[in-house]
Amino acid sequence: MSSSAIDMATPDAIARYEPVIGLEVHVQLATATKIFCGCPTSFGASPNTNVCPVCLGLPGALPVLSREAVELAIKGGLALNCHIRSQSRFARKNYFYPDLPKGYQISQYDEPVAEHGFVDILVDGVEKRIGVTRVHMEDDAGKSIHDGFKDSDRYSYVDLNRCGTPLIEIVSDPDMRSSAEAYAYLTEVKQVLQFVEVSTCDMEKGHLRCDANVSVRLKGAEKFGTKAEVKNLNSFRFLKQALDYEIVRQVALLEGGGRVVQETRLYDPDLGETFTMRSKEDAHDYRYFPEPDLVPLRVGEKWLAEVRASMPELPACKRKRFIEEYGLRAYDAEVLTAARPASEYYETVAKVSGDPKIAANWVMGDLMALLKAEGKEIAASPVRPENLGELVKLIVKDEISGKLAKEIFPKMFSSGDSAGVVMEREGLKQISDTDALDRIIAEVIANNPKQVEQYRGGKTTVINFLVGQAMRATRGQANVTLVTGLLKRKLGTGEIC
Ligand code: ADP
Ligand code: ZN
Ligand code: MG
Repeated sequence: MSSSAIDMATPDAIARYEPVIGLEVHVQLATATKIFCGCPTSFGASPNTNVCPVCLGLPGALPVLSREAVELAIKGGLALNCHIRSQSRFARKNYFYPDLPKGYQISQYDEPVAEHGFVDILVDGVEKRIGVTRVHMEDDAGKSIHDGFKDSDRYSYVDLNRCGTPLIEIVSDPDMRSSAEAYAYLTEVKQVLQFVEVSTCDMEKGHLRCDANVSVRLKGAEKFGTKAEVKNLNSFRFLKQALDYEIVRQVALLEGGGRVVQETRLYDPDLGETFTMRSKEDAHDYRYFPEPDLVPLRVGEKWLAEVRASMPELPACKRKRFIEEYGLRAYDAEVLTAARPASEYYETVAKVSGDPKIAANWVMGDLMALLKAEGKEIAASPVRPENLGELVKLIVKDEISGKLAKEIFPKMFSSGDSAGVVMEREGLKQISDTDALDRIIAEVIANNPKQVEQYRGGKTTVINFLVGQAMRATRGQANVTLVTGLLKRKLGTGEIC
């Protein structure tokens, strides 16, 4: 679209319209083998080595449904608050493509494994529920690789390793009203599926791909506008950019007296624009029909109960529990439950330390900072959660100062040792010996006559400064409570805290 045409979408015009967005998200299930055969799903194998007659679609080869894939699909459905259908059915979705040797994809059509779910999102402090229309299972196609630049030297290759990789497709209701809501929805879907270990959702490996459907309508209008679908968005940033572009493009079209045509588009991240891939007229007629080589999938009460019982606590429940049980702030609970390893790490620290709030500060502060600096995941943290819990416990029990703990922690991180071992090795012990402290306090008093005078004159908050000086003189190793008491006594209030 030319820039003059886009100019029709003035900020005023855009403000008069409301975007309507629905997402279709494809997620690779975390099985070791393919959905209808025993071939491995491992990433990065030599081309066309993870294949067999079934996933190559050779005549006469018969698919056998993977129980593991079904269980992960059910878990995914449950994690998205769906109803799991007691019967679902596979269907053939017919189309020709060089990387689809069977000539059809095995998918689900009118009887998906799960439906009627929802995802709660939070945008600008406002919570909103986005409907999940359905979750269905399907097999992935292979990969075409195009190589060479000159016509005389151009080749296309096909790698069928990915054929038969198990996927679920999650279709949302058209409930989102901004690119920010779509972004939040995809974030939430990704987090929850990673949490229940249904998928790694590794976008770089194509484990999570998203098609975005978007239309615009005048605010207050009841009827949805005609939608365009932007296919194959493989990053959160591109999703947002593509939607923002599409909204402006559609508003401009309508404002210019044109109309939006229903079509499939692609996003070009270099140009920051979407362009037509195929129009409705070229849309596939997939000729869906029930897959004759597979019996309907039945999920009985007992099986469903077993799968349900094997699920971890969902992040939304955990968030609520962390707030109620540990008194965490909503923001902290959000951060600490975003991923399962962090939530489990935190909970161990909270339990061992006996102070969930200080534990949260240490996990979100010092630990996360060091992990980030070293590019490490929390699961690979050199400091075991039990050890961080012990360190926090020492602070809580006033056996070490917070300052000393800050000195000990990086040493625990670099060595993997416990606080006790580090303190022993480095000679970092809390000084609770009154004689030694008396000497230090005498020095502090001698060196800070102005503050001493202020204190004696009634400005008692100056005590904090003097305590700080004493802590500094001992590299944070002095017992704060003891120092405060001794200082007060020396300064003549006679108070022993
Ligand atoms: P199609 O038949 O074109 O595949 P569906 O009704 O199956 O369309 O919907 C596909 C996706 O598009 C869903 O996520 C749905 O929420 C979304 N969607 C449907 N209609 C609209 C619309 N008018 N504007 C935006 N999104 C829509
Ligand atoms: Zn195979
Ligand atoms: Mg559809």
